[in-house]
Amino acid sequence: MAAVAQLVELLVVVQAVAGSSPTSRPMKCIYCESPDIRAREITRNEYARAFPTNIPIVPGHVLVAPVRCVEHIEDLTEEEHRALFALITAIKRALRKSLDAEGFNCAWNDGEVAGQSIPHLHIHIVPRKAGDTGILEYEPRKFLYRPGSREKAPEMELIAVAKAIEEALGAH
Ligand SMILES: [Zn+2]
Repeated sequence: MAAVAQLVELLVVVQAVAGSSPTSRPMKCIYCESPDIRAREITRNEYARAFPTNIPIVPGHVLVAPVRCVEHIEDLTEEEHRALFALITAIKRALRKSLDAEGFNCAWNDGEVAGQSIPHLHIHIVPRKAGDTGILEYEPRKFLYRPGSREKAPEMELIAVAKAIEEALGAH
């Protein structure tokens, strides 16, 4: 996974160098500046846009991203947040109609350590159908984290974690 992320980063750098000229600044963000992504854009509203990813898990795998180049969901304004989720909703409806999607895996990787290879927030919308060849292991505890079985955490430990997060919520 880390190797793939590094490869993507490297490709972005290579494209940036290849595309630069004395009069154009280097490509900083592929989502903001790639003409290919601009050409395949499905739709946009004032603050968000949707386009198919170039390496789809299944046909119809769409990315929804804010227009503004921000890395994390907490960087969004309330208007951008609303616009992003309005577009996610619209794309899901359109995927049901156009590609007979029966369900969806919607997810984003947040931060480089979590596999976010492009530091421009993007939500993956993966349309699913019974019997498709998409994500076969969609239980997040298995495909995102440690494989294999894990022990159930003691209730006291869960309560301590909940309390620590609750305190942080009140601390800002
Ligand atoms: Zn960007």
